Amino acid sequence: MTYETYAGLSREVLLEKVQSVMSDKRFKHVLGVEKAAIHLAELNGYDTEKAGLAGLLHDYAKEVPDQTFLDLIDKYQLDPELKNWNNNVWHGMVGIYKIQEDLGVTDKEILHSIETHTVGSTSMSLLDKIVYVADYIEHNRNFPLVEEARAIAEQDLDRAVAFETVHTVEHLAHQALPIFPQTIETYNAYVGFMREDR
Ligand code: GDP
Ligand code: FE
Ligand code: FE
Repeated sequence: MTYETYAGLSREVLLEKVQSVMSDKRFKHVLGVEKAAIHLAELNGYDTEKAGLAGLLHDYAKEVPDQTFLDLIDKYQLDPELKNWNNNVWHGMVGIYKIQEDLGVTDKEILHSIETHTVGSTSMSLLDKIVYVADYIEHNRNFPLVEEARAIAEQDLDRAVAFETVHTVEHLAHQALPIFPQTIETYNAYVGFMREDR
């Protein structure tokens, strides 16, 4: 794999950098997402290098301290509303600034897919969908619905986005957690794909 085209760094160097900022468990997860993203790219006719690289980097900022995210929101003059959320939302939406600073990744498509990997968006690109779904179905994931999610992802990526979003919203609501507005927008944009007769 030649990630150098998009990151300016080889996969070997990137692996070292990614591994150095996260737990072994999370590193295993990102390798799983890299693999799943490459598979989904093959299935859907997308550039496997871009998909794999986005998968490898998607949780790069997951263990960044909260104060660093708050500082990045100021530094890049992001929507101040973001400050009311937490790491779950920040590691993607704000994490892309940390990735640009630390790794020098500039590819807009890759950065957008990482920005929206947790909350989605109303008009997701093919790469956005690949990363969003790969994160949910990678082989280390183990929750009751994952087998069904994997089967859907083999058949229909839009339906896989819908399935994941419906169950994420359900899961958050069940725990009485706040739901980021963009997650609700993603839900409304994709829920129609759950219908058999669409
Ligand atoms: P991970 O980084 O691989 O663990 O996966 P994600 O980036 O998809 O999600 C991180 C966490 O954010 C998970 O616990 C999700 O349930 C949670 N999450 C996803 N969407 C939302 C949202 O809209 N609001 C809140 N509060 N949490 C969310
Ligand atoms: Fe994540
Ligand atoms: Fe992840």
